Amino acid sequence: MKKFQSPKGTRDVLPAEQKYWRQVEQVLDSLARIFGYERLDLPVFESTALFQRGVGTGTDIVEKEMYTFTDKGGDSMTLRPEFTAGVIRAYLENGMASRPKPVKLWSYGPIFRYERPQAGRYRQFTQFNIEAIGEMDPALDFEIMSAAWQLFSDLKFRNLCFQINSIGCPACRPGYMEQLKAHFRSHEKDLCGDCRNRLEKNPLRLLDCKKETCKPLADRAPRAADFLCKECADHFETLKRYLDSMAMPYTVNPRLVRGLDYYTKTVFEVWAEGIGAQNAVCGGGRYDGLAEILGGPPTPGIGFAAGIERLVMTLMHQQIPVPETGRPDVYVACQDPKAMPEAVRLATLLRQAGTPAVLGFGGRSLKAQLREADNRGARFTAIIGEEELGKQAVQVRDMTKAVQEQLSWTDLITRFRRPRD
Ligand code: ATP
Ligand code: MG
Repeated sequence: MKKFQSPKGTRDVLPAEQKYWRQVEQVLDSLARIFGYERLDLPVFESTALFQRGVGTGTDIVEKEMYTFTDKGGDSMTLRPEFTAGVIRAYLENGMASRPKPVKLWSYGPIFRYERPQAGRYRQFTQFNIEAIGEMDPALDFEIMSAAWQLFSDLKFRNLCFQINSIGCPACRPGYMEQLKAHFRSHEKDLCGDCRNRLEKNPLRLLDCKKETCKPLADRAPRAADFLCKECADHFETLKRYLDSMAMPYTVNPRLVRGLDYYTKTVFEVWAEGIGAQNAVCGGGRYDGLAEILGGPPTPGIGFAAGIERLVMTLMHQQIPVPETGRPDVYVACQDPKAMPEAVRLATLLRQAGTPAVLGFGGRSLKAQLREADNRGARFTAIIGEEELGKQAVQVRDMTKAVQEQLSWTDLITRFRRPRD
């Protein structure tokens, strides 16, 4: 019979990797609390039309990468390829616009894109996403970037590179677009096929092409930051001043773009060194035109999303120590199988007191049980030996020091009791 495998581009997160995930999740949770973001959980699928409008028909995501299906009622649904469109949908639908602005929300969960899988690039991956809705102040752009900053410094990452750019607004972008098109048109024969198609539809995306043939042309292209209107230029300058004043180093990268009209002003990415070609650990920016596209009133917004798999890869690659998870405090062993009913009771009492405890099954030799305790990383083993049988007592062995002492069950339970929330 054919052996089943996980679908291409998906991965199993095995127990050995879980400690890195817990570490990232804990840091994210406290980050959201420190910065005052509230959690919002959303459905994993939405109407296809939401993403067609909210992500945009000119994007790779909508053109090539969505998992779209028709449900039994005949409606077209899509597994979410990002969070932002769903967050704004929920914001409008639930009347959150009447709350004090900015409304600050975070979300976490699986995202689906039909991409070419490689290390750090999957078809199902996980994002942490934060959005701040309803405020134009560049101090908010700074706040969002400093949240990204703090996330990576709390994770103890080294060798990060912050990239920023401004792509203007509907007032200044059309003039820039004309210059950009003229530049690329004059080199049309040197562009890749994709870029030739993008030239009329979405010229900003040519800047972001990863092909070796297009990169040099993109490097020489006119820069959005040189075409900003006064409002956008002031916004960008103020943001940079905040970053400078807090000594947060960044590079202005004129090729950093978001290819759609409702993305405005600030865009940024953070790159981590050494995790391979897929080095963007987070990406974000302003989307002051999005709420209107989705049928709401004009509402500015800014946010970012970080890919958890790439954060975990960075933790592992940079060999950053994380707390061990899943190690039992106590392994309960018995010298003679006839002590098993007592061992079962003792393990139960320990767990009722909140102590992570494992029990040696199967009536094996004490030596075999001690070996297992060691393999499981147990800190202590409580052995019911001949001496202790029927006396509600155990020999407690410290597994690192290999010293042993006799304790009553009551003392053992008191010593290892863990308060539960
Ligand atoms: P990339 O340029 O790497 O394709 P992107 O611009 O498509 O990234 P965003 O849509 O901004 O990425 O998503 C935010 C973050 O989600 C990225 O910075 C990255 O960490 C992560 N990410 C995006 N696509 C994938 C994927 N296919 N697999 C794993 N992580 C991903
Ligand atoms: Mg992508």
